[in-house]
Amino acid sequence: MNFQTLDTIDVSGKTILLRADLNVPVKDGNVTDTTRIDRVKPTIDMLAQKGAKIVVMAHFGRPKGEAKAEFSLSFLPPVLEKQWGKPVAFASDCIGDPAQQAISDLKDGDILLLENVRFHGGEEKNDPAFAKDLAALGDVFVNDAFSAAHRAHASTEGLAHLLPCAAGRLMEAELNALASALENPQKPVAAIVGGAKISTKLGVLDNLVRKTDYLVLGGGMANTFMHARGINIGNSLCEKDMAEDANKIAKTAEENGCKIILPVDQIAVREFKENAPHETVKAGNMKEDQEGVDVGPETITAIKDILQGCKTVLWNGPLGVFEMKPFDTGTNEIAKAVAELTKSDTLVSIAGGGDTVAALENAGIAKDFTYISTAGGAFLEWLEGKTLPGVAALIERSKAA
Ligand code: AMP
Repeated sequence: MNFQTLDTIDVSGKTILLRADLNVPVKDGNVTDTTRIDRVKPTIDMLAQKGAKIVVMAHFGRPKGEAKAEFSLSFLPPVLEKQWGKPVAFASDCIGDPAQQAISDLKDGDILLLENVRFHGGEEKNDPAFAKDLAALGDVFVNDAFSAAHRAHASTEGLAHLLPCAAGRLMEAELNALASALENPQKPVAAIVGGAKISTKLGVLDNLVRKTDYLVLGGGMANTFMHARGINIGNSLCEKDMAEDANKIAKTAEENGCKIILPVDQIAVREFKENAPHETVKAGNMKEDQEGVDVGPETITAIKDILQGCKTVLWNGPLGVFEMKPFDTGTNEIAKAVAELTKSDTLVSIAGGGDTVAALENAGIAKDFTYISTAGGAFLEWLEGKTLPGVAALIERSKAA
């Protein structure tokens, strides 16, 4: 992938419009997880060090084009200051006089956060006039919001056509990690896909079986594949109406030389609750009142064996109901194995999307993966093989530069 980065574009003394994803979780007025803020820090540090004036654009929630107090970003500067270790000013609008005035007060290396870009309807409509109003504020557009790159909005896509642009450090890391996993990976490649349902990940599965050597299935979605093959799954979560889709994916896998790995045993319960009495049941032997909540020990061993022979692994979705102990065992065991292989430099491991980050953090090894993406929808759309508009614009503009 070819795109400009902070190493190839001149930012010194310039006013930089930095698109960041600061859509952080908030409870009772407090930010409960600062991961998204922390991940932008390398970009902030580098821009500040180079003496750029940093103007941060971000969205928060879904105000649908109206300035609504509950979606204001005005609460965020103190949190950013704490996490970034630098003062952060705030402008009460992301375009026009309030923004212009606040920018004219900035000195080299200063940071300004603009009010929620989604307070203007032109943002989500990718309205060229709104993009022009944003572009008027700065000299260079730096996009560090991979997690918003699947949306063609003014601050993620439109702006790239109006100013010289580059990927920020986080965007650069995401794109390099994703390319190393699917575009030019070291083979063999295994994809581990878990989670509840196949209906939400049909596109992902269809793309992965075309690009990987193994598709390891766990979680609720494995049941749908097992059911489609005529394997009894008892009372397990299953999308029976998706059996045909599951078989279609299995056929595509066969045509493309991808081996689908299904559980050979599962942990079965009669009550869906934490610490419910449970037993290991071989595939096909589930009783009618039992449901599978995790992969069993033989399956864990089989998956570990496959991973030993792989050079790249891509992971989305937990292998069991990881929120209820001890049914996080399968996910934890496989996560630990991936972490060990990564640490010994035999495996490149990329994970992301939805509950995956929480599941791997619960396993206590997230830091040992090669790369964990914090992007949800964008990561999944990329796994589907879709072009992300925000990324496409960066690449296209790099060609023009
Ligand atoms: P997803 O967002 O599709 O990745 O799904 C994640 C959810 O799948 C988690 O909340 C898990 O509890 C759930 N899950 C994983 N395995 C199972 C299973 N065997 N039965 C029911 N739910 C599951």
